[in-house]
Formats: sequence, C-alpha cells, structure tokens
Amino acid sequence: MSMFKDIPVDVGVIYEGERIRRNDMQVELGGPGVKEKFELAKVKPLEEVEDGKITIIGPDIKDMKEGGVYPLGIIVEAAGASIDQALEGVIERRIHGYMNYIEGFMHLNQRYDIWLRLGKKSFQKGLNSFEPIGKVLHRLFKSELPIIEKVQITFITDPAKVSEFYPEAMQAYETRDAKARGLKDEDVDKFYGCVLCQSFAPSHVCVITPQRYSNCGAISWFDGRASAQIDPKGPVFAIERGELINAEKGEFSGVNETVKKRTLGEVTKVWLYTAFDHPHTSCGCFEAVAFYIPEVDGFGVVNRSFKGVTVNGLAFSTLADSTAGGRQVDGFHGMSIEYMRSKKFLAADGGWNRVVWLPKEVKERVKDFVPADVIDKIATEETAPTIDALKSFLKEKAHPIVATWVAEAPPVAEAPAEGPVEEGAMIPVATAATLPIMAGGFKIILKDAKIYAKKVIIRSMKSEKS
Ligand code: SF4
Repeated sequence: MSMFKDIPVDVGVIYEGERIRRNDMQVELGGPGVKEKFELAKVKPLEEVEDGKITIIGPDIKDMKEGGVYPLGIIVEAAGASIDQALEGVIERRIHGYMNYIEGFMHLNQRYDIWLRLGKKSFQKGLNSFEPIGKVLHRLFKSELPIIEKVQITFITDPAKVSEFYPEAMQAYETRDAKARGLKDEDVDKFYGCVLCQSFAPSHVCVITPQRYSNCGAISWFDGRASAQIDPKGPVFAIERGELINAEKGEFSGVNETVKKRTLGEVTKVWLYTAFDHPHTSCGCFEAVAFYIPEVDGFGVVNRSFKGVTVNGLAFSTLADSTAGGRQVDGFHGMSIEYMRSKKFLAADGGWNRVVWLPKEVKERVKDFVPADVIDKIATEETAPTIDALKSFLKEKAHPIVATWVAEAPPVAEAPAEGPVEEGAMIPVATAATLPIMAGGFKIILKDAKIYAKKVIIRSMKSEKS
C-alpha cells in the first residue's frame, strides 16, 4: 500500500535496500560516470523558504534518454523556528533514506558521491519526473522531522548549473567537518550509533565518535547528537560510552553492548582504531577502503571515485566487495576520508606510519593532517603502480615501515603448497560473504562461508542431458 495516493509508484520502507541493475535502469543520475554531482541541505530563515516548492533546473526525467547517465545536484532548503545550521548534516543524510522508500528508485552514497538509478518499471508506471520525487521528500521531511516547518527542494540536471553549485557544496561539507575537529573521544561520555545502512548491510552499526567520523563521511559526532535529540526513535541514537576496555585499540564496554544488541548478536566486539581482529564493520557506502598489503606490511587506502586499479591490481569496486556487507574483515576497513584527519586514524596499527599508498587526489585532500616526516614517503598511483614499484619507492624514501622490515623480513603472501594433493585432502572450493543454497523450497544462506570438498567433479550440463 502506498503511503501517498497521488504518487505513481508505491512508497514505503520495504523498498529500502532495493538495487536497480544496469539492464533494468531507465536513467542513472550521478554515480561513477559523472564527475560532479552532489546533495546539499541548507537551513534558511522561514521567510526564505516556500513550503512544498519543487524546482527543476535542466532536463526532467521524461526528457532523458533511456539508459542515459546524467549529472545531478539536489538542494534541500529547510526552515523552522527551532532549527539551525547544526542540523544541516542530519537533514542531508535523510535524503538517502527517504529516496530509497520510493519503489524502483535507488539512492547510494552521499554528498559529492551520490549515485541514483530509476528503474524502467517505475518509469513506465508514471514516475517520469522529479516533481513526485520532490513531493515524497517534502512529505517525509515534514512528517518524520516535525521540527522542519517548511522545505523546498531543487533538482539540478543542467551540467553547467551543477558545476556552478558544486564548489559551494564542497565548501559547505568542509566547513561542517572542520567544526567537528578538535574534540577527543576521551572528552565525551556518549558516542552515537547509526543503523541507516542496515537496509543494505543488516549487521552494520556505525559508531560515531568525535574522532571516528561515520563511514559515509556524512555524520559527525555533532550531527549524531543533533539527530538523536530531534528524532530519538530515528536511525541515529546515543551510545553510552561505558568503561574503557582498551585505550590503544579503542574498545568500550558501551559500544560492545549496543552493537551486540543492534546486530542481534551478530557482532559482539568492536575495536574502533584498528583494521585487525575486531574492526568497525563496513556497510556499503563508505567513502574509502583501507586495505592491508601483506608484501610490505602496510596499508593502502582507495576512495570511491578512484578510477584505476590500486597498487595490488584491484579496483575500488573489488576491494569494496571484499569489505562491505556489515562484516568485520581482517585487514579491510571501510571508512570516511574525514577519519584520515583524526589522530585516532588506524592508531593501533601504527597510524600514518603504516600507510604506504594513496591515490594522488586523496593525498592532496588530507595532506595537512599527515605528519610532515611521512607525507612524501607515501606512494601514489603515479609513483608506485605495482607492488614491486612500491617496495622500491618505500626503500628509496625510507618510509617508517621499512625499518620494521630490517628486524623482520616483510611478510609475503602465503603461496599454495606445491606437489600433488593427497588423497582425502580437503580442497577449498568456495569462499563467499553470503552463499545462498536452494533446497526443498527453502533458501539457506551461509554467511562468511568457506566450503571444502574432498573431490571436485566438473561435468558439462550438456553431456548430462544427452
Ligand atoms: S554509513 Fe553509517 S552513519 Fe552513514 S548512513 Fe550508513 S550507517 Fe549511518
């Protein structure tokens, strides 16, 4: 049952987590194929906002080519007697949730990284304009966050206009992030949790502390606090920090208890400042992935918009697949760029002294927060496109990680044992994050499965039929 009778498609929480595949999409807005895209919330004085006004600058959906990819800027301007700019981050992050309530409409990521798709079926049902999408946003903002008295929404698809507003959006994110810097985890007795991404990653809870920004990079500790205050039953909630169990790794009793409860026992322990053993879970909309490089015992970090392959030959999408889904994967860590500006950034693993490779663009963005004696020793896609080149680069620059190799040779990835496989030896045939098996009318899902078999028989389906 649709929440709204005048919207051509259904709207409801059941559509959260719905994926639209390329073959099923009518149009794509933003995403990896578009350089400039953004969503931005602004709090304005009451008299400057016309409640319910939807503006479309550039071609509307019905004017777009089937299968086409277009730039998009979304500006949500909100007003209310008791809201101020501190709520902009909270309002902005709700765009993701509300848009995903629309049947056949997918919204991924946040800020300058948004990626939206409209499915063909919903387009054929009449969802062919930003007008009804804006109406859904307007109604949900007003009903879910009653503190908002007026809201107007602008969709920009004209590339020149998107480019015009883009720097303003980037500046707004930076100003917001800069405000949240300075406060330490030890200075507060409450952290904040967010489960907005559980529709895509059911065992994921973001733990947002002053020094560990949310994975998506869209919710700071201050945003978490504001969100939990105005909507205590919403996806963002307070976490009593509790007892400090391990200062180095960042383990707190209150975090463990809350995460266990919110993941129904799936995750019982979280270490906030490390990518090993019990790392923070990774949902799917993290801005970047830190990945362990065993050959040099260091970390690489790659961001979502990096187009090429990283130093280990894998693209962001492959590394993201190995990381995502609400899992705790040893050596893989979904995170925000802002976390890289924190003193707690992978602190238990050596922090910046352990980082060996970054895309040039990310290095430029965080350079003011990297210790001066390390910054030039971190390789990029230009200085080290391969592992061999990386080893030479690190040695030549005397990266701090190299000193640890002297005491102990850098670990190498384990090679499979040579020689014939013994009779009865178990051969790994599959490793998977989730492996569905259909049997007797039931679907059985094996999580983090490793399947071993004594023997693997590969038989052609054709020869079986004949
Ligand atoms: S990444 Fe974390 S903070 Fe951001 S929306 Fe998802 S759960 Fe919430």
